Amino acid sequence: MKNLKLASRETHERTAVTVAGIEVGRNFAVIAGPCSVESEEQVLETARAVKAAGANMFRGGAFKPRTSPYAFQGLGMRGLRILAKARQETGLPIVTEVIDPRDVCWVAEFADVLQIGTRNMQNFSLLKEVGKSNRPVLLKRGMYSTLEEWLNCAEYILSEGNPDVILCERGIRTFETYTRNTLDLSAVPAIKELTHLPIIIDPTHSTGRISLIGPMSLAAVAAGADGLIIEVHHNPSEALCDADQALTPDTFADLMSRLRTLKSFLDQQPCRGDR
Ligand code: PEP
Ligand code: MN
Repeated sequence: MKNLKLASRETHERTAVTVAGIEVGRNFAVIAGPCSVESEEQVLETARAVKAAGANMFRGGAFKPRTSPYAFQGLGMRGLRILAKARQETGLPIVTEVIDPRDVCWVAEFADVLQIGTRNMQNFSLLKEVGKSNRPVLLKRGMYSTLEEWLNCAEYILSEGNPDVILCERGIRTFETYTRNTLDLSAVPAIKELTHLPIIIDPTHSTGRISLIGPMSLAAVAAGADGLIIEVHHNPSEALCDADQALTPDTFADLMSRLRTLKSFLDQQPCRGDR
């Protein structure tokens, strides 16, 4: 891809992005937590559960980009304070979304990783702003975007001086309606051919179906993904956002144990090539 200077695989060795001691790209990252921060009790209970199950980062949105203006928009600053408590109590680094360039500076004070959501992938002023911050960025693929458009967005962040970009495939829009989006799992090996940046998979937003999250997580590991981001809620039926796709802590723990089994099996196999 000729426009890529800093993101290109041709000119750069494989990058690992370090988040609180976890080298994403070398260590498998499992980011888990609710779609949105709703209350201190909800966040702390879910954070304790995902930590016990083996997650190494915690997610939760304090700013929610919602399709409807009448839907829950997140707790904002109050939500960030709750996330800080979860980090203090569990030690898990926090991944949280930023949706407005004016907020980047102070959201970065609470977040260990700044998430750019699918709807903002090509919000260039937001990309430039996170490119100036000293926090790693989780850049989700735009739901209508090609790999080339996505990597050019990573290039925006890198070219502002921030080298720490983690890509996240979260499904794209196709004619299929059974699933919320269509998970493009081929993005994993394709991205590894094109760029040195790590790539993780979001099986939650790509499928929108609890029954498909486990199989797609396992498939992501087999495809060589560097991690997963999975929504977990201590009481999914009461979630204010994305209730239909959140795993319970028990289901998540069960999935984690299957992931560990698969990972250790794959790690024992001699691997030719890049994986
Ligand atoms: C989310 O992670 O909760 C989210 C809104 O994701 P996406 O931007 O992929 O829809
Ligand atoms: Mn969500």
